[in-house]
Amino acid sequence: MLIYEQEYLKMLETAFNFLFRKGKPVNGSPLNQAKHEFIVTNGGCCLHCGIRLTRKNSNTEHIHDRALGGINESSNKIIMCTSCNLARNKTMQIYLGPPSYWQGFPGNWDRVKKYLLWNAVTVDKGHDAGESYPEVHHIFESILQSNGKPIKPPSHWFGRGNYCDIIVTEPKRRGFWIRVFDRIFGYESSQNTPVIAVNRTNHRENIEERVKPEREILKIDESFRHHILAALSTIQGEIDLATFSSYFQLYLVSKDMRKQSLKQFAHSFGIPKRRSFIEIIEDYFSNEIDYRRVGQTVVYITMKNREVFEYLANEDE
Ligand SMILES: [Zn+2]
Repeated sequence: MLIYEQEYLKMLETAFNFLFRKGKPVNGSPLNQAKHEFIVTNGGCCLHCGIRLTRKNSNTEHIHDRALGGINESSNKIIMCTSCNLARNKTMQIYLGPPSYWQGFPGNWDRVKKYLLWNAVTVDKGHDAGESYPEVHHIFESILQSNGKPIKPPSHWFGRGNYCDIIVTEPKRRGFWIRVFDRIFGYESSQNTPVIAVNRTNHRENIEERVKPEREILKIDESFRHHILAALSTIQGEIDLATFSSYFQLYLVSKDMRKQSLKQFAHSFGIPKRRSFIEIIEDYFSNEIDYRRVGQTVVYITMKNREVFEYLANEDE
C-alpha cells in the first residue's frame, strides 16, 4: 500500500469505479467568488510556488481531476496560481498521457493512484509532501523550473473548500515527509516486521512445492477459469494482483454476478480458502497466466498468450 493510500481510500475508490465504467468527466466551475476574494484580500499564497495570489494570477484547481472522476464540489476545489495550476495539468498529461484514462485502465491504475495521491497531499499537507511520489513530483518541479518559476512553498495557505481553513506547515524542513516515509517503510523497520518474515518462509515453500507438487488439484467447473481469463484478457500487459482483485469484483458486477473477492470466488468453486492466488494460478492456469514477484509482497500477473483467449472475451459481447 502506498503512503497516504488509506487516508484517501474514498477518492481512490471513486476514481477506480469511474475508470471501470468509462465515466464521462463532469463540467467544472470555479470556487465560490467570496472565498476567492477572501483569499486574495487576506494574503493567500500559492501552495506550490509561494507567490502572493491576486484575482488576476489565480484560479480554481479541481484537486481530484475531473478526468479521473473528480466531482465539481467546493470540497474538491482550491485556489492556486494559474501557472502552477497549468503545471499540474501538464504533469498529468506527461505522467498519464492524454485522456481518456479508461483506455489504459486498469494497466495504468498504479500511475493514476500515485498521481491522485500526489494531487491530494500537496494540497492538504503541502508541496513537499508530494515527494512521497517522486516520479510525479519531479515532473511537476521540472515544469516549474523550465518556466523559470522559483519553488518556495509557503508556511501556510488556504485549504480546499468553501471554509477559510489555513493549513500551516514547517517549510524549512524540506524532505520531512520523505524521512517519515523512510522511517515507516525503511529497510531497518521492515526487518522487524514479523509479517515479512512469514512471507519469506512462504516464498521458499512455494518454490519447493513447485518442484514437488503435493496440492490436490480439483476438477472444477470451467466457468471458474472462463471468468478469470475473460477479465484478465481485457487488460493490456501486466497488472498487480491487488488491482486485479478490485477489477475482478467490478467485472463480476458487470456480468450480473455477486461482487466477491478473487479468493471468495475461488472458494465458491470449492477451492480451499487457504490456497493463495499464486497457488491457484500454478494449479489451474499454468498454461494461461504468468506471474512475477516484485519484492516480498507484490505480484504481477499477465496473460501468456493473449490471442488464444480473445474469443473468451468476445463470447460475452
Ligand atoms: Zn504557484
